[in-house]
Amino acid sequence: MVMYHYVRDFSRTRYPGIRGLDLAGFRRQLDYLQANYTVVSVADVLAARRGAAALPENAALLTFDDAYAEHYALVFPELHARRLQGVFFAPVDPVCHGRLLDVNRVHFVLAATLNRVGELVQLLEAAVEEARAEFDVETLGAYRATWAHANRFDDAQTIYIKRMLQTALPEPLRNRIAGELFARFVSADEAAFAAELYMSEAQARLMLDCGMAIGAHGASHCWLNQVPRDRQEQEIDASLAFLKRIGAPVEDHWLIAYPYGGWNEGLLEVLRGRGCSLGFTVEPALADLTRHDPLLLPRLDTNDLPQ
Ligand SMILES: [Zn+2]
Repeated sequence: MVMYHYVRDFSRTRYPGIRGLDLAGFRRQLDYLQANYTVVSVADVLAARRGAAALPENAALLTFDDAYAEHYALVFPELHARRLQGVFFAPVDPVCHGRLLDVNRVHFVLAATLNRVGELVQLLEAAVEEARAEFDVETLGAYRATWAHANRFDDAQTIYIKRMLQTALPEPLRNRIAGELFARFVSADEAAFAAELYMSEAQARLMLDCGMAIGAHGASHCWLNQVPRDRQEQEIDASLAFLKRIGAPVEDHWLIAYPYGGWNEGLLEVLRGRGCSLGFTVEPALADLTRHDPLLLPRLDTNDLPQ
């Protein structure tokens, strides 16, 4: 299982600071995968799950998260020309309602302020201090101790900004701060920006009709392990209503990728109750259908593979 997020044409993008795979690199990686692996379809994986047919050695399922317009414009034609299937996990709010996701708002703020991450930290912390009377917020020292830790992709300050604005701060406050930073550094017109960033529902339907698979990725792209059960159900049911509208299966053999890899036992109960067949995390490992729970399949990141 291989996971992709941004795939872009870097010669044309207005945001070269967005890290992602460029189109030439994506093509080289597909060459590599086709030479060394067998790219399989969702139907192949479901057949293996049922025990009907084993997967080939070195099977690879290609997955793409967040329904970017580039997935439609660049990835889909490339896969179609090679007769390969991709699985596209599409969040409902951006695709159907034109809403910009928190995760992208923060990415584009960071991309617009490259090498000025210290300035962003100052602005963020000043905004938190200013909101202290209005919101129940922790001390900055406590936030830093919990969240400012480098991971394998980002330095500590960048992770701190991402986590503060994606999960740590109270939701209304982080939306307000992220919105202010986005308006200041990226664009005053979020709706127009979102309309360009994501594929449309009609495009998702066309990809499905042409043999691609479309899977659930929640509605608002929240951490599904951090919300109560009724919100988990709303997020999943909104996804299922979207999949049904575009003609994807919803009774059984439907798929989900957890935003940020967030899941818990309660969520798995919700999914099992609705006939979900396969769930994908962001744990970087090789999936083994004989060993892994089918609702908790790990995925290698595109950065883990050569181009
Ligand atoms: Zn996502």
